[in-house]
Amino acid sequence: MAIESTLSIIKPDAVENNKIGAILNLIEEAGLKIRAMRMLKMNPEVAGGFYAVHKERPFFGELVEFMSRGPVVVSVLEGENAVAKYREIMGATNPAEAAEGTIRKLYASSIGENAVHGSDSLENAKIGIAYFFPESEIG
Ligand code: ADP
Ligand code: MG
Repeated sequence: MAIESTLSIIKPDAVENNKIGAILNLIEEAGLKIRAMRMLKMNPEVAGGFYAVHKERPFFGELVEFMSRGPVVVSVLEGENAVAKYREIMGATNPAEAAEGTIRKLYASSIGENAVHGSDSLENAKIGIAYFFPESEIG
């Protein structure tokens, strides 16, 4: 299996709830390497640009408002099968449907405020990494 890089965002709800460390611990315990990391606050333009693929969805405005309301922790995770592995430990989008022990089951409060983002494909991982780490050679 190939070594991949994927993009993780610890969302504003999890930062507000003091779960940065707990989430990074789950990531490292899963065997993923943290290769780059930034804490930043997105303005609505940056959040909307990142989630542009969802701009026709009914929750787009709510999503942009949520993602820009406070700081986030953006990181590049690396490992074997990293894209799928991170999606697995994140759990389902809706925490009510997420498996026991997953990040979203443990720390998300709703389908909108769901603690973390993780790339859903290798292609989107490359796009997401370039969006937040344009200066980096990672990914
Ligand atoms: P995922 O983050 O699991 O890849 P999606 O790509 O479907 O999920 O959606 C992107 C983000 O939009 C979700 O993580 C969540 O924050 C938000 N979202 C998704 N569905 C809803 C919904 N029905 N209502 C409000 N927010 C939503
Ligand atoms: Mg998605």
